[in-house]
Amino acid sequence: MSVPPEIYLDMDGVCVDFIGAAMKTQGYNADLMLEAWREEHPGSLYPEPLMDKTATEFFTHSNMHASEFWADLVPYYWFEHLFEELGRLGHVVFLTAPTGAPGCVSGKLEWLINHFGSDFTDFIFTRHKDRLAHPNAYLVDDMPFNIEPFNARNGVGILFPQIWNELSHIEDPVPHVITTLEAAILRHQ
Ligand SMILES: [Mg+2]
Repeated sequence: MSVPPEIYLDMDGVCVDFIGAAMKTQGYNADLMLEAWREEHPGSLYPEPLMDKTATEFFTHSNMHASEFWADLVPYYWFEHLFEELGRLGHVVFLTAPTGAPGCVSGKLEWLINHFGSDFTDFIFTRHKDRLAHPNAYLVDDMPFNIEPFNARNGVGILFPQIWNELSHIEDPVPHVITTLEAAILRHQ
């Protein structure tokens, strides 16, 4: 019996606009900052000169400790389409890493329940995404530091284009991801 591809879908930076919300809650104009990031620092994981605070200060800000911050994250305009297309190719499971704040896990769970109902179970919360790697497992994620260890354990990492990674030049992320994933699945069959 052939098992459908297991597609692990990252949330922040792939399904929801975490970075925009993190900027807004710290008083930045997210549209302007993201535009400057794209123009002046494409591919940079975190443009410290632009942000005027360290990555640690930015990513551990106390406004992001509450579950509401995570529950209220806004899906990217492509989310529904991406989710639908991935569902056509395999069994989709959300795979998302909690921060050090407990509210992150409860807020993310609330987000999933709000979108899919309280009987939804296709999610895993862990920072150890690579532990789930196997030859029929595909990780769609915007962070190279998640993709590389996943590949190293014989999974198939698919980098999701974002302005902070090497695919920052790709305007329309979903067709790129779907085409790449389809080719990868064919290769591994
Ligand atoms: Mg991410």
